[in-house]
Amino acid sequence: MNKAGKIFVVGLGPGDRAHMTLEAKAVIEKSDVIVGYKTYIDLIKDMIEDKEVFSSGMKKEIERCTETLEIAKQGKVVSLVSSGDSGVYGMAGIMLEVVSKAESDIKVEIIPGVTASNAAAASLGAPIMHDYATISLSDLLTDWSLIEKRLHYAGQGDFVVCLYNPKSKGRQKQIEIAREILLKYKKQDTIVGIVKNAKRDGETVVITTLKDMLKHEIDMFTTVIVGNSNTYLVNGKIITPRGYKL
Ligand code: SAH
Repeated sequence: MNKAGKIFVVGLGPGDRAHMTLEAKAVIEKSDVIVGYKTYIDLIKDMIEDKEVFSSGMKKEIERCTETLEIAKQGKVVSLVSSGDSGVYGMAGIMLEVVSKAESDIKVEIIPGVTASNAAAASLGAPIMHDYATISLSDLLTDWSLIEKRLHYAGQGDFVVCLYNPKSKGRQKQIEIAREILLKYKKQDTIVGIVKNAKRDGETVVITTLKDMLKHEIDMFTTVIVGNSNTYLVNGKIITPRGYKL
């Protein structure tokens, strides 16, 4: 009988090897085949020299999942890799959907990773110590009106807000609108942390305010964390207090 194929959807973490989980590493090592977007494949090049590798460009998510399923059906163990946590704006959901639609009995296991908001938060101090909302500003797959609505509610609820996909070459306005919406509920001096390339080569950390945040570089490698009404800055670190009395 053929060996049973299996799919792992693996979150590689933010980039540095030290921030990849031991389980992610173990699963990649025991896989026959690795599938992923080229940038992520490059992150683990040294770990996968002996493996079959299928790398593809961006916006080929469905093809990548279909390919992954086809490979698993041949009896191979295949890891579909993506950055951060694969269940946070990653590949886990679409992989499960593709397998379900194909009515396949191939097993899929999701291996969690350190997501960008956790990596960025750690570099800033402790900004997401209290309730927070992550909102992606990418309107490629989500109606912009729904994104705006969520920004309003997150602001109204005094959530700390982690903004993923804040700005790209083709999407410049979204971060400006997001700031304007949050300013309806949050003060101008609300603390904002901007982390580019968190926990990987070239990390930059900026601490600013909602008023001034647009004066700083924000791009697709950046996560923006907007504090709540209690968030403050001490010794260069952001703290959103949990509420302990000292
Ligand atoms: N699955 C990923 C998120 C993919 S969406 C995760 O869990 O982290 C892509 C967005 O994530 C980027 O536009 C950026 O906002 C954020 N991001 C991913 N890696 C990052 C890093 N190392 N530093 C800062 N932001 C990052």
